Amino acid sequence: MTSNLEKDILARRTFAIISHPDAGKTTITEKLLLFGGAIRDAGTVKGKKTGKFATSDWMEIEKQRGISVTSSVMQFDYSGSRINILDTPGHQDFSEDTYRTLMAVDSAVMVVDAAKGIEAQTLKLFKVCKMRGIPIFTFINKLDRQGKEPLELIEELEEVLGIHAYPMNWPIGMGKEFLGIYDRYNKRIEQFRTEEEERFLPIDENGELAIDHPMKVTSYYSQAMDDIMLLNEAGNAYSEEKIRRGELTPVFFGSALTNFGVQTFLETYLQFAPTPQPRITEDEQYIDPVEHPEFSGFIFKIQANMNPAHRDRIAFVRIVSGKFERGMNMTLSRTGKSFKVTQSTQFLADDRETVDVAVAGDIIGLYDTGTYQIGDTVVGGKKTFQFEKLPQFTPELFVRVTAKNVMKSKQFHKGILQLVQEGAIQYYKTLHTEEVILGAVGQLQFEVFEHRMKNEYNVEVRMEPIGSKMARWIENEEDVKESMSSSRSMLVKDRFDNLVFLFENEFAMRWFADKNENIKLYSLL
Ligand code: GDP
Repeated sequence: MTSNLEKDILARRTFAIISHPDAGKTTITEKLLLFGGAIRDAGTVKGKKTGKFATSDWMEIEKQRGISVTSSVMQFDYSGSRINILDTPGHQDFSEDTYRTLMAVDSAVMVVDAAKGIEAQTLKLFKVCKMRGIPIFTFINKLDRQGKEPLELIEELEEVLGIHAYPMNWPIGMGKEFLGIYDRYNKRIEQFRTEEEERFLPIDENGELAIDHPMKVTSYYSQAMDDIMLLNEAGNAYSEEKIRRGELTPVFFGSALTNFGVQTFLETYLQFAPTPQPRITEDEQYIDPVEHPEFSGFIFKIQANMNPAHRDRIAFVRIVSGKFERGMNMTLSRTGKSFKVTQSTQFLADDRETVDVAVAGDIIGLYDTGTYQIGDTVVGGKKTFQFEKLPQFTPELFVRVTAKNVMKSKQFHKGILQLVQEGAIQYYKTLHTEEVILGAVGQLQFEVFEHRMKNEYNVEVRMEPIGSKMARWIENEEDVKESMSSSRSMLVKDRFDNLVFLFENEFAMRWFADKNENIKLYSLL
């Protein structure tokens, strides 16, 4: 490993921002990109706000809805680090891709709306991060508006998410009376809406504001000081080790819209954010980004129809080790086939550019004509290996699907097979009748499926929603009898022929478990 390459790799910080829709993820992302000089104006991150689209770039469905179907990647430099932010789409665009994106990052930033606290989608995404044991940093946003009490927010964080929290700073007032933040970590007070030269106020060795200042006589200041005393005495101890293991989340307060607290957050975050981490292979070898001399990476996402005219797809590769250079030879471990990579893209906020060189920690896009599958490993050296499988996620929404035209059954099955392999949707079938049931974690996956079946396979499909279900796999399949299947606990097979129960609701599942104590059920993530 040349020391230059090592230096480049160690400068990488790759993370995702997780949040519930409307908490302020886009706003924060924009501010981060502005600091990094990657964009000039706010409002360029998502087409949603500005209607700006490179028309050739996005699927029809994206244009219609004004959203981006799958996550994108943004890169910028800040104070010696090269930062890759992987977007995790929310709301209806929430899908398995959102979860899988979290497999490709080394840490996560969780944005919470101070008025709303922990919301459903944040919780789901948080669980995936927790399972991976990656560091999670929390930004509590919208302090310029009245929200919940800060202590209440910290308590909620700990209770709902089951993680310890350490406030790195603390708000002084809130909403109309938001005066600033008391920065416990950097030992200073940062003032809200003030002249640049007054932005930071010093604190003395007792932790009090060190100078005479009108803020000092306000009730907000004394309240903040009382809270901080409480945190110092009864709060969690600060531990970098625990932060690194994802057991303690450092919490920052701020207001992304007014660009307050974001830069402090970024600078502090960069001191802790992990460099590219090793990944494990199926035979339990660690592939270290720096130690492993050759290029390797895995595909965590395949995005279709970036350019409808060419029907192309882009496979997103997280580089695990070494260096990618355009024109290099790569081997796809699953098939053992080698090929020369001449077309590759990197992803930026407002444009895609061709990438010539990228290193461990970066994400590159490879043009795909149907070669790749989700979870595939690509290697640069002679010796191939396979990275650990990406987890499958328990879907929550299901539809029964048929071809409108029965004559098209062959294309129908071919299309489904390919889209399932690509990880766009999950496949199930009923036991004898072999009706096709599709599962997804987000509604949009169905819409994309329908659209792609029509456009890529020329098959119109009929989709009959069967609602949300709780899917549970079975440890002891041999004890399952078909008579256990009912409308409330439907027995189906997944694409690997494993038996799965689709329960109508929690109640149906508990009822089943009571009646059939010997059957051991489990869910995927
Ligand atoms: P996303 O859905 O998480 O990406 O959220 P956005 O960044 O699009 O923000 C949702 C809404 O909240 C927008 O109207 C923003 O202008 C607003 N918003 C974001 N940050 C703040 C903030 O710090 N204060 C206030 N008052 N509004 C904010």
